[in-house]
Amino acid sequence: MSYPDTYYKRTMADQTARPALAGTVECDVVIVGGGLAGLSTALQLARAGKHVTVLEAESVGFGASGRNGGFVGPGYATGGDDIARITGKDAARKLHHLSIEGMEFIRENIKSLGIDSARPEPGIMSVLRYDDGPSLKAYADETRREYGYDLDYMDRDAVRAVLKSERYFQALRNPNAFHMHPLNYLRAIAAEIERLGGRICEQSPATSVDFSRTEKRVKTAGGEVRAHDVVFTTGGYTDGLNGRLKRSFLPIATYVMVSEEAPELIATAIATENAIGDNRRAGDYYRLVDGGRRILWGGRITTHAASTAGLVKELRAEMIGTYPQLRDLRTELAWSGLMSYARHLMPQIGRMSPGVWYCTAFGGHGLNTTAIGGKVIAEGILGESDRYRLFEPFGLVWAGGLAGLAVAQLTYWKLQAQDWWRERAA
Ligand SMILES: Cc1cc2nc3c(=O)[nH]c(=O)nc-3n(C[C@H](O)[C@H](O)[C@H](O)COP(=O)(O)OP(=O)(O)OC[C@H]3O[C@@H](n4cnc5c(N)ncnc54)[C@H](O)[C@@H]3O)c2cc1C
Repeated sequence: MSYPDTYYKRTMADQTARPALAGTVECDVVIVGGGLAGLSTALQLARAGKHVTVLEAESVGFGASGRNGGFVGPGYATGGDDIARITGKDAARKLHHLSIEGMEFIRENIKSLGIDSARPEPGIMSVLRYDDGPSLKAYADETRREYGYDLDYMDRDAVRAVLKSERYFQALRNPNAFHMHPLNYLRAIAAEIERLGGRICEQSPATSVDFSRTEKRVKTAGGEVRAHDVVFTTGGYTDGLNGRLKRSFLPIATYVMVSEEAPELIATAIATENAIGDNRRAGDYYRLVDGGRRILWGGRITTHAASTAGLVKELRAEMIGTYPQLRDLRTELAWSGLMSYARHLMPQIGRMSPGVWYCTAFGGHGLNTTAIGGKVIAEGILGESDRYRLFEPFGLVWAGGLAGLAVAQLTYWKLQAQDWWRERAA
């Protein structure tokens, strides 16, 4: 099996390895990319009785889906106001409800398929790093009014009772959001697809595609899949296979580290099983794993392949800046992963031409959104709905190539600088 050395790989529940594609296979739908977008699509199609084949270049969940923070909450990689500016308020509201549906899809799968190894834990706190309770309360009121969605307000004392940091002030807790072991969830979904008759081929990078006939053809080194529909779900790992897709997003790297086992020391800082994110636009996120024995801490983005060791120094400085009492907590493991971001920061979900679909660019908010991407693409292929059209305003626009990457990095640094000023000014 090919996975980077992550906490998730080390605690992977199911060890099944799958053979590569060999020979010619005919099916209804071929899906290129075995991350959460590809497997959610395959699951929904297999549930509806379609014959699906998934081609994965490495092992299922090799990409961002098997190495992320595990935060599952509503929303997208960009805010509701930015979405409404493009789509209008009504469509933005529908998109927001869809994003909640994505979160519920994962919860329901964990429950109905008995995926205990996903270890879902309820609650995500979003914490302010400056004193501004009234704005937070106003935001919670608006969310209740606009979407009928409840967030719990926590005042400074309530926050500091569980997060022992002078950096923190008020927080909103989302009791419906949760966090989980993403690789175990994904591998259980893969097993369910196979139970329903689907085929998953690992170590099978698609090397060429032919869309010229009604029956699409996708080739790998060892074989060919022929199918009526093809879906591209290759995320930040998209190669030159589909040039239009490749040009429409920027691959952005982000980083996670996991501490040594030190439950007593960790309890001096963090006394909650909720996952935590701070409200900075370029902020950090973290949660306890292994029953509170370790911290998983993520943050930072780069547009070039930075050394993970260098990024760990930055993440540690963040952690110790927030919790000086964790100065002696060792970092045991760190890794990076690639996300795909479109210029508009929204997922790219739709149909390129008859029978050719794409479902990608989920950015750093991919757990709930890959789930809805998979659902609406499957509904489109099955002819059950055209909900995928809600994403039409966010098409496959050119992401700007190298200049786009430079702008993304500069924007991130600008956001970091703005966060810094905002905290100092408060
Ligand atoms: C470190 C990190 C932390 C994150 N934290 C969170 C979080 O806490 N919450 C959240 O909601 N989101 C988070 N995200 C974002 C989220 O993980 C992604 O948006 C989501 O997993 C994207 O899924 P995907 O299926 O589109 O892509 P991927 O999971 O990257 O899957 C794409 C797959 O396609 C395969 N592939 C590529 N080319 C080919 C080919 N030619 N043939 C066959 N297969 C191919 C790759 O091997 C890969 O497995 C995080 C991301 C990272 C990297």
